[in-house]
Formats: sequence, C-alpha cells, structure tokens
Amino acid sequence: MRASKLYAPTLREVPSDAEVTSHRLMLRAGLIRKAASGMYTYLPLGWRVIRKLERIIREEMEAKDGQEIMMPIVQPAEIWQETKRWDAFGPEMFRLKDVHEHDFCLGPTHEEMITTLVRNEVRSYKQLPLNLFQIQNKYRDERRPRFGLMRSREFIMKDAYSFDADEAGADVAYRDMYDAYTRIFTRCGLNFRPVEADSGAIGGGHTHEFTVLAESGESEIASCTSCDFAANIEKAELKTVAAPDEPLTDLKKIETPDCKTIEAVADFLSLPLDKTIKAVAFQDEEGTLVLAFVRGDHEVNEVKLANAVEARELVMAEESAIEEAGGTPGYMSPIGIRKGTKIVVDATVMQMKNACAGANEVGYHYTGLTPSRDFDAERILVRDIRLMQEGDPCPHCGHEVVITRGIEVGQVFKLGTKYSEALGATFLDENGKSKPLIMGCYGIGVGRTAAAAIEQNNDEHGIIWPRAIAPFEVCVLVVNARKEDELRLAEEVYQELKTAGFDVLLDDRPERAGVKFKDADLIGYPVRVTIGPKTAESGEIELKVRRTGETFTATRETYQAKLRELLDTL
Ligand code: ATP
Ligand code: MG
Repeated sequence: MRASKLYAPTLREVPSDAEVTSHRLMLRAGLIRKAASGMYTYLPLGWRVIRKLERIIREEMEAKDGQEIMMPIVQPAEIWQETKRWDAFGPEMFRLKDVHEHDFCLGPTHEEMITTLVRNEVRSYKQLPLNLFQIQNKYRDERRPRFGLMRSREFIMKDAYSFDADEAGADVAYRDMYDAYTRIFTRCGLNFRPVEADSGAIGGGHTHEFTVLAESGESEIASCTSCDFAANIEKAELKTVAAPDEPLTDLKKIETPDCKTIEAVADFLSLPLDKTIKAVAFQDEEGTLVLAFVRGDHEVNEVKLANAVEARELVMAEESAIEEAGGTPGYMSPIGIRKGTKIVVDATVMQMKNACAGANEVGYHYTGLTPSRDFDAERILVRDIRLMQEGDPCPHCGHEVVITRGIEVGQVFKLGTKYSEALGATFLDENGKSKPLIMGCYGIGVGRTAAAAIEQNNDEHGIIWPRAIAPFEVCVLVVNARKEDELRLAEEVYQELKTAGFDVLLDDRPERAGVKFKDADLIGYPVRVTIGPKTAESGEIELKVRRTGETFTATRETYQAKLRELLDTL
C-alpha cells in the first residue's frame, strides 16, 4: 500500500468529545470515524487492525476445533420470548418490526439463535462435543455509549458456543476456551488477567472475564498480594467480619441535629465509623424500594445487591419513594419500614453490637442497636452485599488484596442447561436417554480489544502498536518524495520488502518530512525504514523502532536481516 493512495486522514487537533486516550488516538490516527452516537466507520488502517485481530482469534478458535458459522443479525422475537429474555433484556435491545408487523431485534448476543439451530440438528451424543463460533456485529443500545470502540452500540464480537453431553465435557470446553483466550490476548501483546466474574441474577454459572490492565478501564479488579486470586470486585466475595464481644446496651433513640450523613453522626457522637450502620436506597425496574444496609465504613456492591433481590437494574431511589415506605431520607433504619420494601442487610452488619443507625425520624438516631436482636428477622434479607476494598482479606488465603483497573475484553461462561432446557435442545445419550445439552458461551469484543491495546501502548506522540495487530508492521518513509532518486530507491526497498513477505506501507506522499515522521509516530507502525539523502549518497538506510525510539543504520545488503531481527523482538 502507498500512503499517497491511502485514505487515512490524520488530525493534529485533539477531538473534544473523546475522553480516553484510545478514542482520541483512533480518531487522530485516522482509524475510525463516528457515524452516530456509539456507531463507527472503520477506515482502512482501523479495519486492518480489526482484520488482524480477527485472524488471530480465528486461528486460536480453530485450534480448539471451533467451527466458524454466520448467523443472522436480525432475530425473531419468538425465540427470545421462549427464554423470557425478550422482556428481561430491557431497553438495551434494539427492536424492530418487519413489514408484517412481526417483532424482531438486532442481535445483542446469540444464545437463543444458536440453541434453536442445534435443537433441530443435534440429536445424539455421537454429534458431541460441538463448538461453533462467528465474528459479527452486535447491537446494544447502551445508555451511555462512550470511549469510542470501547463501549459502542454497534460492535464486533466473536461469540462462540459449546455443546457437550456431560459436565466433564463441558469443563473441557470451558478450559479449552480459557486457554484459547489466554493465547489470543498473549499473541496480541496485551498485559491482561483472567478474573473471576459475576454471573448475574439468573444462571449462577462459572465465569471468568479477561481484563486488560489499564487505568482508564471501567472494571475494578481485586487481586491478592499473596496467592493467585483475582476477581472483578462486582463478584469478589467477602467473609463476614465478626465484631468484638461486649456487653449489650439498650436500644435508645437520641437527638442528632443536622446529622444527615453517617460521617456527621459518627463525628457528633465521637463514634468510629465501624460502629455505625449506613443505608443506601435504590429502586428496581418495577419501582420497588430496595434498602441496603452496610457498616458505615463499607460500600454497597450494587451487583451483589441486584442479585440478592433478583433485580435487573437498580437506580438511586426517589425521596418520595423512601417517604412512602415510611423511611426518612438521611435517617434510615430497617425499623419502621412498611411491608413491600425489600430490605437487604450486609452479613457483617448482623454481627455488630451497640451500633448507631438512623431512627427513621429527622434529627434522630438509634444507639445501642444490635441488629441480631433489634431487626425483624422476618422482614430482612441477610447477604454479602459489600464492595471489596483495597486491604480487605483475600477470600482464598486471607492476605490483603489490591485494587487495579482494567478493561473487560472477553468473557468465558459456563451456561449449563439454562438455554437448552428453555428451548428444548435435547440429545439421546449412550443409553438412549433424552438429556438437555450442556452449554458454554464465550465472547470477545474485537473493537474493544483494539482500543485496549492502544490504552496500554501509547506515548505523547501516538500509538505504539504491538506487532501482531499493527495496521502495517513497517513503514518505508521517503524523506523527500520530490527527489527522483530518493523516491526510486524507496520504491525498490518497498518492493523488496513486499516480495520478502513483510507487511509494509510506503509513505511516498509529497509532504514535508516532519509531517510524515509525525504521522508515522501517531499511527504507530512498529518499525520505520527511512530513505533519505544519505541513502542516495552512500546507500545508508535508517531503521527506527517506534517503541524504544532506537535507531539503527544498515545497507541495502543488511537492512532486511536487521528489520527481521527488530520485528522479532516486538
Ligand atoms: P460490559 O459489562 O462491559 O457491558 P458485557 O459483560 O455486557 O460487557 P458480554 O456480553 O460479556 O459483555 O460480551 C462479550 C464481550 O463483548 C465483552 O467482553 C466486551 O469485550 C464486548 N462488548 C460488550 N459490550 C460492548 C460494547 N458496548 N462495545 C464494545 N464491546 C463490547
Ligand atoms: Mg461480560
């Protein structure tokens, strides 16, 4: 490819609506352009990155006997109604009607589609195991599309589905995909961690997320400073903390003027925060009030809370909803709340003795509150709903955990028989007995992986592509394309490299050298081969490594070997 013919409009200005580095650099380097909120066009260089990623993914899926198929993006409502996900998926699903007024959606994922495919075809254990995958656009009407390809509304996903006859087989399939993902992200040159993740309110299967470590990531992961435990904090389980033994005092209501926050009360009463109980009020998708109680120095984990009350979505409660339930915003306690409200108390709170919490009355709190004695056990749900924090004990070995941020690029999931049972996908085992297929599903966000690679590999000049997914591995740059001898030499070098099988771009544009150097750094080709006046005079060729900035000189005889040697380290 010649840069003079390439459609790669680079930008000097930083686009104002791009909040994260990868989004800014993808726009500036001319990899993508926004078409609508959360919808992007991949320009030639961006598409080359995607194609390289897809190739790596394909190779690794096929290495585990995955077979590529292509299912329709538009899916009929009926199959989603069979699994009850037509309603459960909520507003994130793009819905449409055909000319006959039949309901359809744009596939946000394909469990229903693939299960209805195999239920008609896979009848015997002899046809198992089976692993089918596709690489295709997915559609999710994200409430807040952002960060470019990281969270878009149309995005490319590799989705794979496994079918097995028994648990042991399903475990092998899961392990195979886990290993394939490890190889894929390693080959992409990414620094990542597989972490234990939340499997949602319904299902309860086993799952790992593959998380690329990056400050801009939306996931928070807890990892142990001693053992190999690593989990998304949404999922990380916490042991109940026992409170020290002390004689119980009586429950007392006391005046606490102007103490609307738990910190203010603790201050007013000179109590440590771990002697206080705080309330956070939510409403589920039906508007039901959900009150969560945690120790004053702890935070509520909304994912665990949603799972506890089987809610699809929780939002901060309206004050009016709290008041209707008999609660007093700022002074909440489970005592005195009307029936119909869901009250979830963190397991650690139930261990507390002589604590302080709101008294459901403006300007008043309880002291001497011992939840195991004073809360109505019939009315409350006791669960681990606490968010893991830095320094908390590891659930495996008890050592401290640290919290880091990351980007979820893939997820592997043991589904069990959830979809096969709902959709009647059964097979006959060796004894002729009918059983539901045991399934797994495995996704990779292709565009998000490209964005994550940029988040991890960039500097003030631009992108530093890992070799495996760079739009081109090598850029041959002519310092002055108006000089015939330089341009001729560059053409020769370009042809030689192409013939030798290098993935090479020739920057032959009649631009100033400075502009071309800047573009090469911005786009981030792993190695730049510069053809300038010195090449014309003495045959000297300069090679520059984007990542380290190191330069090397070679001759027409030696430059290919040097280039190969440099690329092998990238
Ligand atoms: P998230 O929690 O970030 O919304 P998810 O867990 O809902 O993602 P999955 O259903 O597990 O996503 O989809 C598989 C993969 O698809 C994810 O690991 C991610 O890489 C990618 N993906 C999901 N949603 C988006 C999106 N809106 N934009 C780009 N990629 C996405
Ligand atoms: Mg996920």
